[in-house]
Amino acid sequence: LVVQTQVIGTILYNTYRLAERLTLNLKEEVALQTAELNEQNNKLAYAQKALQSANSALKKLSITDGLTQVYNRIYFEQEFRKEWRRCARQNQPISILMIDADHFKQINDNAGHMAGDQCLQAISRKLQQHFKRAGELVARYGGEEFVAMLPNTDQHKTLAVAEGLRSAIERMEFEYNGKIHRVTISIGASTTTPSSNTSPDNLLETADAALYEAKDRGRNTVILIPMLPTQSKNSNKG
Ligand code: GH3
Ligand code: MG
Ligand code: MG
Repeated sequence: LVVQTQVIGTILYNTYRLAERLTLNLKEEVALQTAELNEQNNKLAYAQKALQSANSALKKLSITDGLTQVYNRIYFEQEFRKEWRRCARQNQPISILMIDADHFKQINDNAGHMAGDQCLQAISRKLQQHFKRAGELVARYGGEEFVAMLPNTDQHKTLAVAEGLRSAIERMEFEYNGKIHRVTISIGASTTTPSSNTSPDNLLETADAALYEAKDRGRNTVILIPMLPTQSKNSNKG
């Protein structure tokens, strides 16, 4: 009986030691796995952050004009339609400025295409300083032409903003190859309160007609043609 008890005791003792070792191994294994998992999580969080910032860089790139760094035309069209609908709901006026550099071809011809590019960049920087209020936006419409939208802005205020822009560009000097250059802009503006009879395109067309008139009147000029809310959808075409 004594021998049997001793044998059982030894077996029990060995079993206990084995269980102890197994528990220890298991704990180590769990700690190791946890550490690995944490590391994977950290890597994943880092990758997610990198992806997020790549996405926002891509988004910014897709809405920005490469040369001038102002918004591009696609983004303008999208935002203008949104603001139009918002102003329609709130019965608020909205204004458009079509801005075109005067005799820009001459800058290219006289000082070179690079000078022309830098001139467009200088104009853009100046324009951007003038559109800082919520909802306001300036974009490159194409070539040496820009477009700006002013939501919640009546005719009177729009004229003041346009005149401020015109004179700011007139006073602006930009340097290229050690020489000082100047440029002027013509602005066609239009204001309306969106209604069911009018479309965003009508307002753009009216502002464009105003720009033509500003050019006709000798350039470096602001012309505003208001668009009546009752004006029919096709009245400005052509
Ligand atoms: P106007 O006063 O009637 O607007 O005359 P303008 O010379 O500005 O107009 P026109 O349409 O005859 O010429 C526009 C010029 O703008 C020609 C074109 O080469 C130049 N231009 C358009 N985009 C760019 C650009 O990205 N960089 C440079 N350097 N020039 C450009
Ligand atoms: Mg021009
Ligand atoms: Mg033009």
